[in-house]
Amino acid sequence: MNRKLRVGILGATGVVGQRFIELLQDHPRFEVAELAASGRSQGKTYAEACSWRLPGEMPKRVKNIVVQAPAPPLDCDFVFSSLPGEIAGEAEESFARAGFPVITNSSPHRMDTDVPLLIPEVNSAHLDLIDDQRAGRGYERGYIVTNPNCSTIVIAMALAPLHQSFGVDSCIATTMQAISGAGYPGVPALDITDNVLPFIGGEEEKIESETVKILGRVEGGQVEGAAMKVSAQCNRVNVLDGHLAAIRVKLTRAVSLDQVREALASFTSVPQELKLHSAPDRPIIVREEVDRPQPRLDREAGFGMSVTVGRIAPDSVLDYRFVALGHNTIRGAAGAAILNAELLMAQGYL
Ligand code: NAP
Repeated sequence: MNRKLRVGILGATGVVGQRFIELLQDHPRFEVAELAASGRSQGKTYAEACSWRLPGEMPKRVKNIVVQAPAPPLDCDFVFSSLPGEIAGEAEESFARAGFPVITNSSPHRMDTDVPLLIPEVNSAHLDLIDDQRAGRGYERGYIVTNPNCSTIVIAMALAPLHQSFGVDSCIATTMQAISGAGYPGVPALDITDNVLPFIGGEEEKIESETVKILGRVEGGQVEGAAMKVSAQCNRVNVLDGHLAAIRVKLTRAVSLDQVREALASFTSVPQELKLHSAPDRPIIVREEVDRPQPRLDREAGFGMSVTVGRIAPDSVLDYRFVALGHNTIRGAAGAAILNAELLMAQGYL
């Protein structure tokens, strides 16, 4: 039996950091060894620093780990990052420079030309960028791999089988995003109760640019973005977990409703072939009921790693429309990064 790799978590006390700890507690290949957070938490044990917000108990093995600063070196083989965007960029570069693979949720490096913006089911070939990144930045063992924004991942996963099979010309997506997407304590109760907030700073731009990169191809050491237009509007809604997106697509050729449904329902990819530990059996679950997907009923599908699609129908303006849902802190954050790490390990990068 191979030894487990020792993992550091940067931003370990936050909404995403806690998900990492929950999802890694029985992981067959990774074990939590180091935890890092802000000056408020440093020097305290995790139990003292963290107010545990997930159902159930804080896992016993992390309670006595002393929280560090998010700066190298840490006593681990690689780090997961869920630091706030304002500080993640520099901290992640310093870890990569010091020889640590960095697998991050945070946004600063997602659009760097030499950094994979990875969804293992969609663009595992983008890992080829790691060699160029190391050569270009002078990193020896370290590198940075990112996962997408928590709404982008839902939209890009739903578009991927359609793009592979028929080509997507354009896409219009309207999101309804959960409160946990804003971190803790997040949106004030007086703003979100009995309300919908039609603005999430930077989110529409992220969806529009990241989707094109994810669905693009690696050419000459960088990603050639997919030739499609993406338009996004984002809303914060009064739901705890689970981002919903109402999506309309125009395809590059005429196909039937059955072909669209079949392309989505039959989609499987590299993580399923490799049987990666966190890979759901079905990355996309198609539901036929007229009123699904719903956040409360469908966010845990595939242990939070499947995207659920429903309401597939012809559209009178573009070609087809449907609704897609994913768990924002699992498939949209910690679970996504862990699946990325599992793919990196399977391909010899860890
Ligand atoms: P959060 O709940 O606010 O947690 C932030 C974490 O970063 C905490 O551990 C906090 O530590 C730490 N931190 C804050 N300021 C710091 C500083 N100056 N130096 C070092 N550590 C600092 O946020 P979150 O929702 O977990 O999000 C974390 C990152 O993941 C963000 O970049 C976010 O955009 C991204 N993300 C979030 C989601 C989601 O659904 N929530 C999804 C995808 C990506 P203390 O407890 O010590 O303050």
